[in-house]
Amino acid sequence: MIAILLGPPGAGKGTQAKRLAQKMQALHLSSGDLLRAEKAAGTELGKQAAGYMDRGELVPDSLIIEMMVGKMTQAKSILLDGFPRTLAQAEALDVGLTKHGLKIHRIINIDVPDVEVERRMTGRRSCAACGAVYHVDFAPPKTAGKCDKDGLDLVQRNDDKPEVVRKRLITYHQQTQPLVDYYSKHGLLKDVDGTQSPEKVETKVEAALA
Ligand code: ADP
Ligand code: ADP
Repeated sequence: MIAILLGPPGAGKGTQAKRLAQKMQALHLSSGDLLRAEKAAGTELGKQAAGYMDRGELVPDSLIIEMMVGKMTQAKSILLDGFPRTLAQAEALDVGLTKHGLKIHRIINIDVPDVEVERRMTGRRSCAACGAVYHVDFAPPKTAGKCDKDGLDLVQRNDDKPEVVRKRLITYHQQTQPLVDYYSKHGLLKDVDGTQSPEKVETKVEAALA
């Protein structure tokens, strides 16, 4: 099963993908997490991607497609989070999957209005070591500023600062939102209201995946 979690930045794609990947024994493939790992490791790809990420722009399609499409055979069940994000990426994914006799089973569009997305992104904190994600108000850690799992410091992503958040929302509406139409035509897209609690959203995403 290959499923795509679509939605604006901060909608809760990563939160839901982490929960469901565990439950469904699926591989969670987050293009953002992979890029941040490349950046932290100082690889050529990480260096090329850094400027775009820090400005709230999309990394060029050619780099992302090369990084992601080859991974589609890594597991039987895959939850894609943050990829595809442009029509060119969606088309390249279709071509890559067809080549391997694979196909997309479901696309879940997590719907959250911009003002809520801004609140979610600006309050997001994450553990630089294990990647666990929190929110200062909506999903706070047990001890302020510390990861529940390993006790290490929580950090705010550079691109979650308010000026970059606004730019990322513009980028989303211009370049990624057209995918909702693209995938509606495939007949595989289901909309899920992402404004409720993570638990309620999880139940709905799970039902939509079935
Ligand atoms: P969020 O989880 O808030 O939606 P991500 O972690 O998915 O953000 O992405 C962070 C940044 O990484 C994006 O703003 C963009 O610069 C880059 N990025 C991630 N995925 C893609 C993609 N599929 N295409 C282009 N750039 C991407
Ligand atoms: P995305 O991967 O789509 O960028 P995240 O899963 O990282 O989104 O969530 C963005 C922020 O919003 C995080 O701080 C997360 O803890 C919080 N969050 C996620 N889902 C919900 C929800 N249903 N209600 C409130 N806050 C949420």
